[in-house]
Amino acid sequence: MMRTEILKTVKRIVIKIGSRVLTDDSGALDAAVIAQICGGIAALRDSGLQVVVVSSGAIAAGRSELGLAERPRTIPQKQAVAAVGQTRLMHAYQEALAPHGLKAAQVLLTGEDLGSRQRFLNARSTLDALLDFDVVPIINENDTVVVDEIKFGDNDNLSALVTNVSEAHLLLILTDIEGLFTGDPRTDPDARLVPLVRSITRDIERSAGGTGSGIGTGGMATKVAAARKAGKNGVPTILIAGKQPGIIEAALRGEPVGTLFLPGGDGVSRRKHWIAYTLKPSGRVMIDEGACNVLLKKGKSLLPSGVVRVEGRFERGACVRICGKDGKEFARGLSDYSATEISLLAGKKSGDIEVILGYRYGDVIVHRDNLVVL
Ligand code: GLU
Repeated sequence: MMRTEILKTVKRIVIKIGSRVLTDDSGALDAAVIAQICGGIAALRDSGLQVVVVSSGAIAAGRSELGLAERPRTIPQKQAVAAVGQTRLMHAYQEALAPHGLKAAQVLLTGEDLGSRQRFLNARSTLDALLDFDVVPIINENDTVVVDEIKFGDNDNLSALVTNVSEAHLLLILTDIEGLFTGDPRTDPDARLVPLVRSITRDIERSAGGTGSGIGTGGMATKVAAARKAGKNGVPTILIAGKQPGIIEAALRGEPVGTLFLPGGDGVSRRKHWIAYTLKPSGRVMIDEGACNVLLKKGKSLLPSGVVRVEGRFERGACVRICGKDGKEFARGLSDYSATEISLLAGKKSGDIEVILGYRYGDVIVHRDNLVVL
């Protein structure tokens, strides 16, 4: 009942497809599975849904194309292998979508692209235009140019960010396992499939454990993290076994397949979601208990009087982690002052800012419009 209710409101969906799903036992792209998935995408299109795909598989496809026995290790090797594989990957999607009268578009992104508000909004408009052309956007990280500093980390994370960029209503993650289990089903015979996760608790995160497969970079933990991020956007996630025939259609009909993660509440605004999850934080602002309470319970701005100390170097406008007494981050926001300025203002009254600095940008360190409790 709950699934069909949720699915009634879904118009635009992000489908994340992992390397494990797209490849066969030899590690090569599996044309039969890709054809099956594209059949599912076509069925969703026919029922009036818009589909944005986030696909891994560039490195796996490149490795198989080049006949490499091992996963590439150095960064230039990975980038070269991805460059080879990305074209193979797109070719495979084009071939599999064509019989359904559908066309694919390649969209390669880096964390830096989405971290710039302007480029983020550009990416949004481009995705809109592609969907208006009735094309299926196939997004991947731009592996050939990324270095660690601008990396999304993994495509599970990227897919959660794409739910925000594309203003999607559902995230469907296709993976190599039926869903979230209470333990590791490969080693624990008592492990059971969890059909519904109402909220992502520490227990849920624990049962997701570490990474699973040797091919993709993600594991169950990154999928749960993606579901949490999508949920912050008010977007539910369904995790399913991507190789199963008809599974995409079944999931969208509301059949009880895989694991459904409900979003925690209505979610924050899309801009706040971008601040919290797409931007890379560049420093930490430690605050006292009183300020913590005001931020958590009253949704107010962070004032200099609540700041205990600042760590890292950042300029005015940077994204910063806001941490409590225990050092744990509980909020994120855009700072109105640089790290150097904050270190001078810590514990002081807003009215003294101008006296201390000789100028002022305003009364607050982080304005509540730019602050998100995580
Ligand atoms: N972008 C990588 C690829 O296409 C995959 C990253 C991931 O699976 O998380 O091979």
